Amino acid sequence: MLKGIAGVTETTPINEMNEKKIRQEMANKLTAGLLHLLDEDSHTTVSDLATQITESPDDSSNITNQDAVGEYLAPWIDTEDCTACGDCMKMNSDIFAYNENKKAIIKNPDGGPYRDLVKAAEKCTAQIIHPGLPRNRSEKDIDKWISRGEKYNEM
Ligand code: SF4
Repeated sequence: MLKGIAGVTETTPINEMNEKKIRQEMANKLTAGLLHLLDEDSHTTVSDLATQITESPDDSSNITNQDAVGEYLAPWIDTEDCTACGDCMKMNSDIFAYNENKKAIIKNPDGGPYRDLVKAAEKCTAQIIHPGLPRNRSEKDIDKWISRGEKYNEM
């Protein structure tokens, strides 16, 4: 059912890493969306939120095995295990933020360079940040950063 909600359409079984990532990505999106709904200046409705979560063309939870081994893979955090040290937000507060429970989430995966995701993963004492794979492969030293980030996607 989770795969259906996430819009996964591959014919081969998704691996454990993708399953975990899909769950976390859905949780992050729900949290971010609910926070947005609580914003008095927001004009977002519950219906809008449901549409964004299930139908966004840039929906990073639409993961296939090809995404995992090749192109873009959105970053994710095991939010429930966050110790609220704040180091990731010190690294880049445009990418990372706290949710209403003071647990870190990915606020905007495109809020900074891929290297900031990798550096945050390296710095996170709880080892719960997974940088994914970069959308923009033209960033400086991108192969080095992909290589450094690899092990954090397998945790
Ligand atoms: S660095 Fe890790 S433990 Fe610290 S706030 Fe960020 S996600 Fe949580």
